[in-house]
Amino acid sequence: MIDPWASSSVDYDKLVNQFGIQKISDMINDIKNPGRLMKRGVIFGHRDFDIINKKINNNEEFAVVTGMMPSGQMHIGHKMVVDQLKWYQDKNAMLSLPIADMEAYAARGISFEKAREITINEYLTNYIALGLDLEKDNVNIYLQSENKELQKLSFQASRKTNFNQLKAIYGFTPSKNMAHVQAPLMQVADILIPQIEEYGGPKNVVVPVGIDQDPHIRLTRDIAQKLSEELGFITPSSTYHRFLTGLSGDKMSSSKPSTAIYLNEDPKTASKKVKTAKTGGRESLKEQQELGGEVDKCVVYEMFVYHLLDDDKKLEEIREQCLNGTLRCGDCKAHASELMEEMFENISDKQTEAREIAKNLI
Ligand code: SF4
Repeated sequence: MIDPWASSSVDYDKLVNQFGIQKISDMINDIKNPGRLMKRGVIFGHRDFDIINKKINNNEEFAVVTGMMPSGQMHIGHKMVVDQLKWYQDKNAMLSLPIADMEAYAARGISFEKAREITINEYLTNYIALGLDLEKDNVNIYLQSENKELQKLSFQASRKTNFNQLKAIYGFTPSKNMAHVQAPLMQVADILIPQIEEYGGPKNVVVPVGIDQDPHIRLTRDIAQKLSEELGFITPSSTYHRFLTGLSGDKMSSSKPSTAIYLNEDPKTASKKVKTAKTGGRESLKEQQELGGEVDKCVVYEMFVYHLLDDDKKLEEIREQCLNGTLRCGDCKAHASELMEEMFENISDKQTEAREIAKNLI
């Protein structure tokens, strides 16, 4: 099982080799205007993304699927997925956004009513506030529990797998409740649904995910192949991104406020939280000047890379100055927290209007 959540120092290269994932860096020169996350290696791997890239370059139809499980607050780690969706929306992709309320019920016991509320106030509101246009004709948002076609497709998918395969992938034990067993098959259907006749028929689909989601992708690709004769499905593609480390240096978690900056936080609080982040700074200023900072272990630097700096030159300057010991962590943090405050002012300015739009989407 892949469990990159366990550590912030994941060996992504090893994962690429072990699981047969291809490197984005090998095809980066073929991608027109790659997004910030692709250029900087945050999106590091893929399965068959070259096919999607051809579709983009030829201006041909394709879809992007990314699910949201309405179980908690959305934080800046989740923003990464929205940034990717924006990039695809600019390429005129069809967006399919399943809301995994059935999974939230299965895994966390969250009621369907509560899941709807979280979806509107946390997810859809922030997706819009971050710049996605969810009112476009080629955007499809649905709740798993309300989509009849999804349930039919999930049933068709379940005929192409068996308990042993699911047990091998997810480690199910005989005492696991059956909702847990059904949930991955709903996810398989979520990925395949843009290809059914009601959504325009077979087409290429790409799923941007964290590496921990690869077991779902492999299961879905396997089932898609088995359903290709019956339903004409094309095997979906995927991309894999790194995780944003939590403020404390561990995983960023919706349920641990000391690790995360939530998107509904006010700008001042977001800015203050940056100042609590673990840095790659040395024990003393003298040591920092002599040895330089450990930039690749620094959560503040990660924030610049993922979210705060678009300008590659400025990013490179920070890296250099950190490594050569001329940048002090205090000054660096102050700069990051200023940029974070600006980013959050921008988000919070848009949230009220975004919430009104979100209410009418599901
Ligand atoms: Fe991190 Fe900045 Fe300190 Fe370097 S100087 S370790 S980038 S906070």
